[in-house]
Amino acid sequence: MKKSKINIPIYQPLLDPAVRSNVIDCIDSGWISSKGQYVKEFEANFSSFLNIKYSTSVSNGTTALHLALKALGISEKDEVIVPTFTYIASVNAISYVGASPVFVDSDLKSWNIDPELIEKKITKKTKAIMVVHIYGNPCDMKKIMQIAKKHNLYIIEDVAEGFGSKYMNKFLGSFGDISTFSFFGNKTITTGEGGMVSSNSKKLIDRVELLKNQAVSLSREYWHTDIGFNYRMTNIAAAIGVAQLKSADYILKKKRQIFKWYYANLNELPINFQLVCDESYSSYWMISILLNTNEDRDAIRQLLLNNGIETRPFFYPAHTMKMYSGIVKYSNDFPNATSLSIRGMSLPSFPKLSFEEVFQISKLINSYFIK
Ligand SMILES: *Cc1c(COP(=O)(O)O)cnc(C)c1O
Repeated sequence: MKKSKINIPIYQPLLDPAVRSNVIDCIDSGWISSKGQYVKEFEANFSSFLNIKYSTSVSNGTTALHLALKALGISEKDEVIVPTFTYIASVNAISYVGASPVFVDSDLKSWNIDPELIEKKITKKTKAIMVVHIYGNPCDMKKIMQIAKKHNLYIIEDVAEGFGSKYMNKFLGSFGDISTFSFFGNKTITTGEGGMVSSNSKKLIDRVELLKNQAVSLSREYWHTDIGFNYRMTNIAAAIGVAQLKSADYILKKKRQIFKWYYANLNELPINFQLVCDESYSSYWMISILLNTNEDRDAIRQLLLNNGIETRPFFYPAHTMKMYSGIVKYSNDFPNATSLSIRGMSLPSFPKLSFEEVFQISKLINSYFIK
C-alpha cells in the first residue's frame, strides 16, 4: 500500500493523570525494577477485578504463554490444539516448550476456533487446548470445556485480546486451568509492555512465580531449582497497570459505544461484524469487519489510508508461515482461517475516538459501496 500521513491511528492508549503520578512515585521512591509495592498491588487488584484467585505479573503476553505451558508441564512429544487464525505468539509459545501445535480452523461467524473441529484433532499426545478469544469475542467455552473434560485435557486461555470480556456473566480468564493476558500498548489495558498469568490454582501460579524469577530457591540465596527465566514485570509497568485498572470500566464502556457507532453506520453495507453470542459480552478490543472479497478489503484499506486513517489486515493463518507449514498434513484443512485472513480488517478502536471520527471513517467506507 502507498504510504500516507496518519491522522487517525488504529490505536492509542488512554493514559489518565494517575498513570503519570504513579510513574513519578516510582522514580521518586527509587523503586524502578521488579521489586516495589506496585507489582503486588497490581496483581492483587487484577485478580479481584476478574474474580480469579491468583495472578502473577510477567514481562509480556508471550512470556505469560510460555510460563503457562511450562507450569502445566507441557513439553516435547506433547501436542497442543490451537487455532491457526491467531496472533503468532500463541503458536510460538507452544514451540518454546518443544511441543507441537496442532491447528484447527475457525468459525466464519465468530472468527474463533470452531469447537466442532477440535475432537478429530485429538490424539494420544494431546495435552491441552489453547483457546484464543479473537478481537475480544469470547470462544464457545461451554462446548470447549466439555471436550476438554471428556478427553482429560488442560485448557489454556489466551486472553491477550479479551481483557474485560465476559462469557455467561464471568470474565474471560476464569474458564481455563490457566490464563494469560497482554498489556502491550494497544491492548485494552496497557503497561507499555507487560503480561499476567492468572489461575484459580495456587500450585500453578506458584510454579509460574518460581519460573519467572530464575527458579531461585525461596529458602537459599543463589540456589536455583530449575532452569528458570527472567520474565518479571517492572514496578514502573505495574504502577501504570494499577492506574489502568482503575480506568478499565470506563475504557470498556467507551469501546462498546464506539462499536455501536460503527455498527449503526455500517450495518446496511455488504460487510460482516464478528458474531457475539447471546451469552457473551465482548470488550471489542479491535472493532473489525469482514468484506466479501480480498479486493474490497484492500481497496477500502487504501481508501482509508489515503485519508490518513490507519487500519490493520487480519492475521495470516499461522500454518501458512514457514516455521509451521511443514507440520501441517493437509494445508487445505483451513478454508475459513484463509478466507478470514484475506477479507478482514480492523478499524481504529481506541477509547478516545470521537463520534465525528467514527462518522468520517464510516462515510468513507460507505462511499466505496455507494458510488
Ligand atoms: C498481543 C497478543 C499476544 C502477545 O502479547 P505480547 O504482550 O505482545 O507479547 C498473545 N496472543 C494474542 C492473541 C495477542 O493478541
